[in-house]
Amino acid sequence: MSQTKRIAIYGGTFDPVHDGHLAVARSLVELLALDCLMFVPAHTAPHKRSAPPTSPWHRHAMLALATQGEERFRVSSVELEAPERPYSVDTVARLREEFHGARLFFVMGADSWAEITTWREWERLLEMCDHVVVTRPGYELSFEHVPVKIRARVVDLRGSAGGRAPRAVAEGEPPKIFLSDAVSEDVSATEVRRGVARGENLDGLRVPRAVADYINKYGLYRDQA
Ligand code: ATP
Repeated sequence: MSQTKRIAIYGGTFDPVHDGHLAVARSLVELLALDCLMFVPAHTAPHKRSAPPTSPWHRHAMLALATQGEERFRVSSVELEAPERPYSVDTVARLREEFHGARLFFVMGADSWAEITTWREWERLLEMCDHVVVTRPGYELSFEHVPVKIRARVVDLRGSAGGRAPRAVAEGEPPKIFLSDAVSEDVSATEVRRGVARGENLDGLRVPRAVADYINKYGLYRDQA
């Protein structure tokens, strides 16, 4: 009997991908016994900051470099190829069709979770697949902002070393919101960009070597405040 495939969708701006993203991704492959974790770079994230993000294809290329050799990682261009900037709810709908029959986990950090109620059709999104919220240094994990019926779906995996692959959700059972504290890397893309703009050595900036070389080669982030 073939087992249901378990696929995580890790969306973000990835401007650039850094060691924090990769640590989260590696830990979730273990914790959730994933067949595949898909990084899904967003086209733009206008709510994030006023300067336009780096070209989507640069961000995609850096993800490809950062994930090469990692057997279970994939980089999806689904949002970059969409005719209009999709919301997460559209992307999950699209990936549900593409990976029909798979169990999908949508991944986000505690900072994104804190803003979830501002996302387009966020309640529908939380109904569409399982979610995984990962702790992040500097951000408190809170549930005050979501209704009690959503809090009831939280499964706390904090403190689990790995391999506690959640069982399949039974027919009619609402998807879960898993919590993980498997890693805590205090790094952000903002810090990386600022470090480059200040002329810091890329070796200290907590991105994979191949990503640092790419940033150097294309002179990314040098002019950003
Ligand atoms: P920026 O500094 O530009 O806002 P970022 O470092 O937060 O970027 P994003 O690409 O926005 O990176 O993040 C994509 C997803 O990864 C988000 O859900 C975010 O919460 C999560 N994330 C990013 N960095 C970490 C980290 N160090 N630990 C846990 N989650 C993280």
